[in-house]
Amino acid sequence: MVYQVFESVAKKYDLMNDMMSLGIHRAWKDVLIRKMHPPPGTQLLDVAGGTGDIAFRFLRYVQAQRQRRERRQLRTQQSLSWEEIARKYQSKEDPLGGSLAVVCDINREMLKVGKKKAVDHGFTAGLAWVLGDAEELPFDDDRFDVYTIAFGIRNVTRIDRALQEARRVLKPGGRFLCLEFSQVNDPLISRLALVTGLYKFIHKCFPAAKWRGGSQGATESPQRSGVPSEKLYDLYSFQVIPVIGEVIAGDWKSYQYLVESIRKFPNQEEFKEMIEDAGFQKVTYESLTTGIVAIHSGFKL
Ligand code: SAM
Repeated sequence: MVYQVFESVAKKYDLMNDMMSLGIHRAWKDVLIRKMHPPPGTQLLDVAGGTGDIAFRFLRYVQAQRQRRERRQLRTQQSLSWEEIARKYQSKEDPLGGSLAVVCDINREMLKVGKKKAVDHGFTAGLAWVLGDAEELPFDDDRFDVYTIAFGIRNVTRIDRALQEARRVLKPGGRFLCLEFSQVNDPLISRLALVTGLYKFIHKCFPAAKWRGGSQGATESPQRSGVPSEKLYDLYSFQVIPVIGEVIAGDWKSYQYLVESIRKFPNQEEFKEMIEDAGFQKVTYESLTTGIVAIHSGFKL
């Protein structure tokens, strides 16, 4: 079912991401890369990498790091002539310093969109696309410096198995980083009157049947505490996102599934325990945007 969902949303996936998160997913992904702070030469495996957002950011980051380092080195090499400095600085030789990003995803369609995007963005070197399942990764043990999974792990059937696989393919000392929807815990969100306004507007525009869970196979939204912020967030998730999915991608059901999978995912502390159970150490997390998402980090020591 997950395969079908992503096959169906692949072409509109990036646009929908921007629409649903009002573009904030870009900032969350940037935070993930800054947290990783990869030096040139880093070997990254991005699982459930979809259309390559994390890999592209990673490559841009290491490239910038390398250029900064080179400039610093050149400034201190007083003995070089200006011509030599210019030649070295302009040299395009391995701008990534041996870094590699491997995007692994179970869905061929998502990878196809990603590969096209890579060409459009001019990424030619340091990037590989691999069809594979997070629960059974097609890589050797102790292969990567960093394993990332962004908005992917909640779609995996056996999360514990995926975490064990993450640990297996990381080198000793390697880092696990996961960006995923999490539990909102800040009453500030309740002040988002905008969401309520939007809800009322959309309620008027669409037939009531859909709002009452009219789409077949729909499940009830998981019950949450009575905190107003959570209610509003539920309202936005369950009532607004499938509507955007229907309007933009003509696909109500897939977006309803995505929302349901978000709400069923363990909260920050529960997920931290799962990562520890898989054998990772120094596990920490940071909630972003009042806990709408969280970044979990752990090390294979
Ligand atoms: N990481 C990308 C991003 O942040 O934009 C894509 C996230 S998208 C919400 C989830 C991705 O997980 C989809 O591309 C889907 O095909 C992939 N996926 C789902 N189950 C998977 C599995 N068992 N193994 C690998 N990828 C999987």
